Amino acid sequence: MEKTKKEFTYDELLQKVEAQELLIKKLNDEKFAITNFEYFVKESPDLVCIADTNAYYKIVNDEFPKILGYSKEELLSRPFLEFIHPDDLDKTLEEVQNLTQNNPTVDFENRYIKKNGESICLQWRANLHTANNLIYAIARDVTEIRKTQEKLLSSEKSLNEAQKIAKIESWDFNLVTQELNWSNELYEIFEIENFPGDPQLYAKYLSCFVSEDAEDLNKNVYNTISNKVPYEMEHRIILKDQKTKWVFCTGVPIMDKNNNVVALKGVVQDITQKKQIDDTIKAKEKAEAANKAKSDFLANMSHEIRTPLNGIVGFTDLLLKTKFDNDQLEYLKTVNESANTLMEIINNILDFSKIESGKLELSTEEIDIIQLSNQIVNLFKYEANFKKIDLLLDIDPNVPKCIKGDSFRLKQILVNLLSNSMKFTFSGHIKLKVAQVEEDKTTSKIKFSVIDTGIGIKDYNQKKIFQSFVQADNTTTRKYGGTGLGLAISSQLLALKNSELELISAYGAGSEFFFTVAFEKIFCEKNDLSVKENLGSNMTSHLSNSLTNFKVLIAEDNKINMLLAKTLVRKIIKNCDLIEAANGYDAVVLAEENLPDLILMDIQMPIQNGYDATLEIRKSESTKHIPIIALTAGVLNGEKEKCMEHGMSDYITKPIIQNQLEKVLLKWLKN
Ligand code: ADP
Repeated sequence: MEKTKKEFTYDELLQKVEAQELLIKKLNDEKFAITNFEYFVKESPDLVCIADTNAYYKIVNDEFPKILGYSKEELLSRPFLEFIHPDDLDKTLEEVQNLTQNNPTVDFENRYIKKNGESICLQWRANLHTANNLIYAIARDVTEIRKTQEKLLSSEKSLNEAQKIAKIESWDFNLVTQELNWSNELYEIFEIENFPGDPQLYAKYLSCFVSEDAEDLNKNVYNTISNKVPYEMEHRIILKDQKTKWVFCTGVPIMDKNNNVVALKGVVQDITQKKQIDDTIKAKEKAEAANKAKSDFLANMSHEIRTPLNGIVGFTDLLLKTKFDNDQLEYLKTVNESANTLMEIINNILDFSKIESGKLELSTEEIDIIQLSNQIVNLFKYEANFKKIDLLLDIDPNVPKCIKGDSFRLKQILVNLLSNSMKFTFSGHIKLKVAQVEEDKTTSKIKFSVIDTGIGIKDYNQKKIFQSFVQADNTTTRKYGGTGLGLAISSQLLALKNSELELISAYGAGSEFFFTVAFEKIFCEKNDLSVKENLGSNMTSHLSNSLTNFKVLIAEDNKINMLLAKTLVRKIIKNCDLIEAANGYDAVVLAEENLPDLILMDIQMPIQNGYDATLEIRKSESTKHIPIIALTAGVLNGEKEKCMEHGMSDYITKPIIQNQLEKVLLKWLKN
């Protein structure tokens, strides 16, 4: 049967064409939309995907493999939960659950594990399309942002902690809203309860101030607002239980864009501890200054006392060498001994105060140990003879002949130990024993022991006696005299050499005091002089007889000392021409006029002291070569060095002892 063609009217045809055109347009539009969408998905810098509710990706854009490192096939073939950080799995499942119940995901974050093992933080937005039950999701890599945020948080935390440690707290005050904000710890400093937006806060804060400080604060705040300058103040605060704290506070103005002050910001620091430390330091400085004043006073006093004592010791020494009847001789000896004892006590007290104030420094010079030990033992020979006690010196042959050390202080310790032994021994013997206990190439450790068969020391007193001003028992001073300083000074002197004084004693049987010191070994440089010294006093006086016809200038302001010096010089030099100067200035003039062979120069003199006078004498061509011997008090630190620095040739300490003076005069006049 032939199919009959349907005939269309023109209008019908037109309608059809229009309908077809519409369809084509719709198709084109859809195609355009799909192309756009594909383009958008492809080019998106974010991760775009479609997934089903069984947790499988259906489509992922190119960013997925790029960011996660897996291929598209890998991503599509495994449930997406496998790519999620195990710690974030639970919350992700919960979120997917929500999503399937048609709650869109907004800014949900979880971590994915990349193929290389690194984790990355993704922020998701997703929707469930109910028509096809598919999830349309887009994610952004926020790893860097989160890392930066974490860093910021941690540095903020550190800053807070640092502020807490430094006890620095912050505040701000808005001038427009009159709102005052404090950091939490500021409440702790002021011990005020923390109510948010407390209208009484400023009043409570001010109530901790003493009134003058409150006035200062008001002035400061006013000044900061009107003149736009910061302020700083340090003040006390008094808290509830009258507890006092110290705070340091600052305030700075905050300006708007029209340069009007709209707020104040500042910090408060609790400086109570610092203040306490400052106060302690100040108190310590004050105590040190007082101690220094005490030492200076003692040094001055001892100088004042020593000057007349020098006269007594010196002249009684001289008198003892002249003729007296027995009674007179005994009285004179008593005067001489008393003066010597007094001098010893003064020296001890001075030493003690010097050590106490850390002023005592040890010097180092060449020491001939054998000679020094002999000299010390010789000092006690007379008394030992008198008391019928054997005085022994035992020197180990291994002891090096010469060492470097402070001979004055070494002598002082040994003399102190020997004089104690002498004081407390009535029969038997006293021995000074010197032995080397260790040595290497450069150093020698030498043990010095003073052993006696005296009264001994009870066990319970053996520690006590090393303390200053302490004696074994109360009757000691009355019976034997002394100040109880000798052992304390010796111990402290030894401490300066990292050594200590030790004791072995049995009550009634005797005592042994000993110490070990490491000395630097040296070759003996001393030559003729030490030989002469070893020759003893006979030889010395024989040599001194050969000093004749010299001109000596003595500069000394104290009349007694001048007389003593003159007497001694006349005894040593035959036909001596003596010139006297009562001060440094006269000494310079008289030296220029008389050109003496030698000058004896006191240090402490009016008008011009011995140091300055020496400098003047050394400046002049005609006098610069003259030997100048300083007469020092011998008590101040660095006195010897100071003499040498000022151009003096040698020095002797007061009281002037004839033998010493002889030696020095010989040395400088014979050359
Ligand atoms: P001082 O002898 O000036 O009183 P020291 O500090 O030298 O001061 O001695 C303190 C005390 O130690 C003496 O008073 C004495 O009691 C005791 N002492 C020291 N050496 C001996 C010794 N060799 N034998 C017995 N007692 C001693």
